[in-house]
Amino acid sequence: MNSSVNGSVNGSRVLVLNSGSSSVKYQLLDMADGSRLASGIVERIGEGPVADHSAALKQVAEELAGQGLGLDSPALAAVGHRVVHGGTRFTEPTLITDEVLEEIEKLVPLAPLHNPANITGIKVARDLRPDLPQVAVFDTAFHATMPESAARYAVHRETADRYGVRRYGFHGTSHAYVSRATAALLGRDLAEVNTIVLHLGNGASASAVRGGVCVDTSMGLTPLEGLVMGTRSGDLDPAAIFHLARVGGMSVDEIDTLLNKRSGLLGLCGDNDMREIGRRMGEGDPKAQLAFDIYVHRLRKYVGAYAAVLGRVDAIAFTAGVGENSAAVREAALRGLSVFGIEVDAVRNALRGSSTRLISTETSRVAVAVVPTDEELEIASQAYDLVTA
Ligand code: ADP
Repeated sequence: MNSSVNGSVNGSRVLVLNSGSSSVKYQLLDMADGSRLASGIVERIGEGPVADHSAALKQVAEELAGQGLGLDSPALAAVGHRVVHGGTRFTEPTLITDEVLEEIEKLVPLAPLHNPANITGIKVARDLRPDLPQVAVFDTAFHATMPESAARYAVHRETADRYGVRRYGFHGTSHAYVSRATAALLGRDLAEVNTIVLHLGNGASASAVRGGVCVDTSMGLTPLEGLVMGTRSGDLDPAAIFHLARVGGMSVDEIDTLLNKRSGLLGLCGDNDMREIGRRMGEGDPKAQLAFDIYVHRLRKYVGAYAAVLGRVDAIAFTAGVGENSAAVREAALRGLSVFGIEVDAVRNALRGSSTRLISTETSRVAVAVVPTDEELEIASQAYDLVTA
């Protein structure tokens, strides 16, 4: 495998694949200038014409070939795969070998919904271009630097270790990209800047990043812990699970579905889209208002907690669908925090835009920023750096 790396890479293009259980998202990037040559999504795998991941990747290959960007192009330097769970084994972007693939397979119990699809994507891509380096970039990797005091639950040590019960964190590619982009926006060295990153998409997570190094994050063993999300509860007394089983007669699988798919904003008010919640709040809908208030309250708790973890906060960065677009969430999350040196400028915050921008006042000690995330670019650059190192 290693023969195709180190020295023999000619092209500058990287294909990024994000293989989910029922969809494959792809982007083709040119690392010579970071430009996006193509992007798309193949959905509803397993239903209708796209029978399986093999068919889906063949469709990706055809779509690319149709634009003169076929997978056979010598310009292609690598394929970068998003892999959700790297456990404690993978903390860096990793060139995929048979042995690496076996190790990723061993991590399936930790991410039963995600890793199998990632693995299938890797295998199919390898069949299509066996000569090409395939690189796995893990969602957990950026959080591997968390100290034991943040990563370990206060659970019986031997039992926790036997079953890998600890905090891994997710969305790491985004947290890495956004913390770096925030330092760049401030014109400062990454090593000097302490940032709280708030990735608020359908899934949502916060992280405390000291000088580019993650020291805490809100997701844990799985992406269920932490903030209120579109359909996930986030933090919860674990005894609620025993209660639902004993008193509610629910099975473990039913509770899993309840907390992951039928809770969060959706479970609270029937909508998981912040736009719709905002519209309903405008009509005075109390359920939508309460869902918003619970979401924001949790967010403020994490901002406060991570300010204490970091000691000195230089920047707070909002990213992903809600973070980039909802001025109302940003305003409510940081309202009245001037005593902590956090002041959001109402006019700047309300301005819509798609670029990285500051929304804090001139006098705010902490810079508050909106930083659109770009996980594909981050995966592509990590993969490219590895194969050209
Ligand atoms: P994913 O986690 O699926 O990648 P995204 O980062 O794309 O999610 O975020 C999706 C969410 O962003 C939507 O569910 C929606 O609530 C929110 N969102 C998108 N656009 C807006 C907007 N203009 N205002 C408020 N929320 C928005």
